[in-house]
Amino acid sequence: MTTAYNPNKGAQGGAADTTATGAVGAQGAAGQETSGGFRQPESAAPGVTPGHILDAAEPNRDEVRMKDMWGYQKDHMNLVSPLNRRKFTVLVVGTGLSGGAAAAALGELGYNVKAFTYHDAPRRAHSIAAQGGVNSARGKKVDNDSAYRHTKDTVKGGDYRCRESDCWRLAIESVRVIDHMNAIGAPFAREYGGTLATRSFGGVQVSRTYYTRGQTGQQLQLSTASALQRQIHLGNVEIFTHNDLMDLVITEKDGKKHCEGIVTRNLITGEIVPFTGHAVILATGGYGNVYHKTTLAKNSNSSAMMRAYERGAYLASPAFIQFHPTGLPVNAKWQAKTTLMSESLRNDGRIWTPKEKGDDRDPKDIPEEERDYFLERRYPAFGNLVPRDVASRAISQQLNAGYGVGPLHNSAYLDFTDAIERLGEDTIRERYSNLFEMYEDSIGDDPYKVPMRIAPTVHFTMGGLWTDFNEMTSIDGLFAAGECSWTYHGANRLGANSLLSASVDGWFTLPFTVPNYLANHLGEEVLPEDAPEVTEAVNRAKDTIEQIMSVNGTEPHGPEYYHEQLGDILYEHCGVSRTVEGLTEGIQKIRALRDDFRANISIPGSPNEMNQTLEAALRLADYINLGELMCIDALDRDESCGAHYRMDHLTEDGEAERDDENWCFVSAWEPAGEGEFIRHAEPLYFDSIPLMTRNYK
Ligand SMILES: Cc1cc2nc3c(=O)[nH]c(=O)nc-3n(C[C@H](O)[C@H](O)[C@H](O)COP(=O)(O)OP(=O)(O)OC[C@H]3O[C@@H](n4cnc5c(N)ncnc54)[C@H](O)[C@@H]3O)c2cc1C
Repeated sequence: MTTAYNPNKGAQGGAADTTATGAVGAQGAAGQETSGGFRQPESAAPGVTPGHILDAAEPNRDEVRMKDMWGYQKDHMNLVSPLNRRKFTVLVVGTGLSGGAAAAALGELGYNVKAFTYHDAPRRAHSIAAQGGVNSARGKKVDNDSAYRHTKDTVKGGDYRCRESDCWRLAIESVRVIDHMNAIGAPFAREYGGTLATRSFGGVQVSRTYYTRGQTGQQLQLSTASALQRQIHLGNVEIFTHNDLMDLVITEKDGKKHCEGIVTRNLITGEIVPFTGHAVILATGGYGNVYHKTTLAKNSNSSAMMRAYERGAYLASPAFIQFHPTGLPVNAKWQAKTTLMSESLRNDGRIWTPKEKGDDRDPKDIPEEERDYFLERRYPAFGNLVPRDVASRAISQQLNAGYGVGPLHNSAYLDFTDAIERLGEDTIRERYSNLFEMYEDSIGDDPYKVPMRIAPTVHFTMGGLWTDFNEMTSIDGLFAAGECSWTYHGANRLGANSLLSASVDGWFTLPFTVPNYLANHLGEEVLPEDAPEVTEAVNRAKDTIEQIMSVNGTEPHGPEYYHEQLGDILYEHCGVSRTVEGLTEGIQKIRALRDDFRANISIPGSPNEMNQTLEAALRLADYINLGELMCIDALDRDESCGAHYRMDHLTEDGEAERDDENWCFVSAWEPAGEGEFIRHAEPLYFDSIPLMTRNYK
């Protein structure tokens, strides 16, 4: 294998050496695997060993262009005949937009589905909180949009650290998502003439975001939950509410791991119960709450994802975290979370800070020439609608340089004065009324009269379980969907692409790829519940609880005490910008925090009843390990890309500088003992969207 690795070869020869999922390449001179000229760099992070080269299982990569792969794959997939479908049991964990859709679709197709959520009803999933909109390149407008442009914006927005073929699927299926969601009840906003209305989100120059006022997630989630409820009513889906995933049932056949079940804890009774099935889908949402104060629902967590990681499902790019530029600033130490102001506001709001440091005048008294509309100044082509990573970085730079406003000088203005003058207050009210009300309720200022104050805050996780083109993890039979998987968004997600990805996964990908997997297992019974692997998983779950409940330290503290500290460490050391020294220090601090947590975590009550302190402590044990891995990933990835902004890798004008020669791959992590990690790698190839430097100027 002597050819140099060329990420731009794409369909024309960049294929890995084998075609099986999770496959390895040839051995290089130093004993390291190589594939298509690709070889992993060594790591500067402690405890990291390069592992295998992963194959994405894209179909026929030598002949099929990436843009055609999804169509080709669908044409060539295995099918399960309608009469055989009820012989298969599929377990779906999570009933948000992605899991709810997958469960409803597989139920409708005739599979025997069991759906699990820790909520008291499927509709309560975090997806209900999404505000701004959902993207689709339906091209009904005359602004020259297309699937190509949508794919290009997504790949470029993700700073070329995503899989192009996945992004094509996202764009192609986006058209069906809008029509489907409309058909099952999402009341999208319409133009006066009746056509569906759109608006723009960051990182694009077209208007492709469909919305239902500032409640798009709510309407998509309610429509999906209704479709799921229908399947429950028909008996195709059995729902298990208040059930928290504690572990996975893993079997080994022919040297490969298979997922054949889950173990849950009933959050009301504390009962630990196993369920077995032919396939398991994890759709358990994003892990942003590792940072403590974030825009996510307080209950969103990383535990199911971390359990999969511990059992052998690789975890991709955990350090790729999205800081949303228009969060509400932190106003007090005891604030429990941060709140999102939707990106849609950047359509009409202008972001600025005073030109003078520490200028505490009322914003109305600061004349136009003394204001710095820094996004418009630095990025004239995209202005206030640059992608989130670029906007968050620019705002943070203003704040760090002393231009922040508000009592703690930790925010920038988002000002609607011009838009109200141009369009009238009624139009602005029609577009954003609920967001303006929410702002006034939270901050106490009326944004029709006083500019909003905003600041970057943790919002979304681009990293997640590594999946192949069929959305299967590195464990056979274990699929991942929605925000808990790494798919589509690379190093930075574009606004309104996540409700889309959750919908595409749940409605239009897994209903094909799961049957494609199941077809090879026809005639196999589900694992009996007394199989040794099931008993082992149940015992593991019980032992974990027993161990954490029995800690009896000399300086007892509840989980919140540790969570706040972990959040502070991560915001400081693995935040909007990162340094080698900061990350190294962050890893040490997290390890010290873990020692303290293990010695002193204190949980009152019993595990055999509702015990929310126990739930929080279990979440925290996972967050601490995840936080450590995030810092390791950020230290290991010796480049800047998207939201991963390393101060030692900047262009002359301070933008993120990628290193495509060495780092054009996805890192997929496997644990190898405490403080030890294996970094597997999937080299990335680009076909229709050749690698180039991002430029929003
Ligand atoms: C405030 C806010 C606004 C947003 N606005 C937008 C927007 O306008 N447009 C956009 O595209 N994206 C938006 N996003 C992102 C988007 O909402 C999410 O990425 C998406 O909804 C995630 O859907 P999901 O199906 O992956 O997970 P979720 O909706 O989070 O669902 C997770 C499910 O998993 C279950 N679960 C989790 N852990 C366990 C466990 N251990 N055991 C059992 N069940 C479990 C939960 O009960 C739940 O049912 C926004 C995000 C936030 C925070």
